[in-house]
Amino acid sequence: MRGTCCPFRLLLSAWQYYVRISRGIGCSQLMLYKVCSRIQTQSTENMERHLTGKTALVTGASRGIGRTIALHLAGAGANVAINYQVNEEAAHETVAQIREEGGNALAVSGDVRDAEAVKSVVDRTLETFGELHVLVNNAGITKDTLVLKMRDDDWDLVIDTNLRGAFLCTRAALRPMLAQRWGRIINITSVGWLVGNPGQANYTAAKAGVVAFTRSTAVEMGSRGITVNAIAPGYIPTDLTHDIPPHLMDRLMQKLPIKRAGTPEEIAALVMYLTSDAAAYITGQVIHIDGGLTAGLL
Ligand code: NAP
Repeated sequence: MRGTCCPFRLLLSAWQYYVRISRGIGCSQLMLYKVCSRIQTQSTENMERHLTGKTALVTGASRGIGRTIALHLAGAGANVAINYQVNEEAAHETVAQIREEGGNALAVSGDVRDAEAVKSVVDRTLETFGELHVLVNNAGITKDTLVLKMRDDDWDLVIDTNLRGAFLCTRAALRPMLAQRWGRIINITSVGWLVGNPGQANYTAAKAGVVAFTRSTAVEMGSRGITVNAIAPGYIPTDLTHDIPPHLMDRLMQKLPIKRAGTPEEIAALVMYLTSDAAAYITGQVIHIDGGLTAGLL
């Protein structure tokens, strides 16, 4: 009897063990799924409104990439100061668009090359919104010509706007950020910092300077809760690139691994990520968004 019962019992307890284990696994898988989807939902929610109660300043936000970044920051809940140099109407359009969508924005004129103007831009932002948490150094220009023909003014204008501007704005923004022990600085450089471009010695030198500036500032500020990163876009259609002839542009696009231009929205999406808590451990980096343009170089 024992001899016949034993294998049956063994089979039964093996079956019971299997059921217990598989239930356990099912249960823990379900729990894991629930935890994961909760984390995912929370992080999506956090990413959607992760800047609620915070203030951002975007230089050169009247048009182009800067405007799109400002709209996204406002969408994430931030109060946004829209800096511009001369194009008041465009700056007010950006502000109006943000307010229509229920956000808070302020247009602040000021040439980023001028230390006094930059101080007043930051002061007005602080007077209006109380604090400053995010700075996007986006204002930039080109003045293309071959080195042999480049005038001193062409050099100075481009270096001062793209590089000195980033320095002046960063210095002014660091004081409130240090007091809060929290800040996010994002510098918009260009693939030109890495890839030589005929006619753009002034621009590429300025953008390479922005990368070096980003790294050193990140090292200085890492222990203070302030991260400093750079985004290097490839070709993004805006007023800045408007003068490139279409046939040349087609040729450029065909050379890219991803055979199209980028969009301001794609740049803004990375700004969103870099300002989120998920990116708290990223600092001193240059992130290229260029359809693979620089991939073969690195
Ligand atoms: P954009 O459409 O020409 O807009 C330039 C913005 O900068 C405008 O808001 C302009 O203000 C502002 N600005 C210019 N000089 C200024 C100054 N001295 N002080 C304050 N604001 C000033 O340019 P974008 O294409 O959006 O470029 C934005 C950034 O991305 C630049 O740093 C550029 O180098 C970089 N980037 C662009 C591309 C691209 O393909 N578009 C690629 C790589 C990198 P006003 O309206 O008042 O003139």
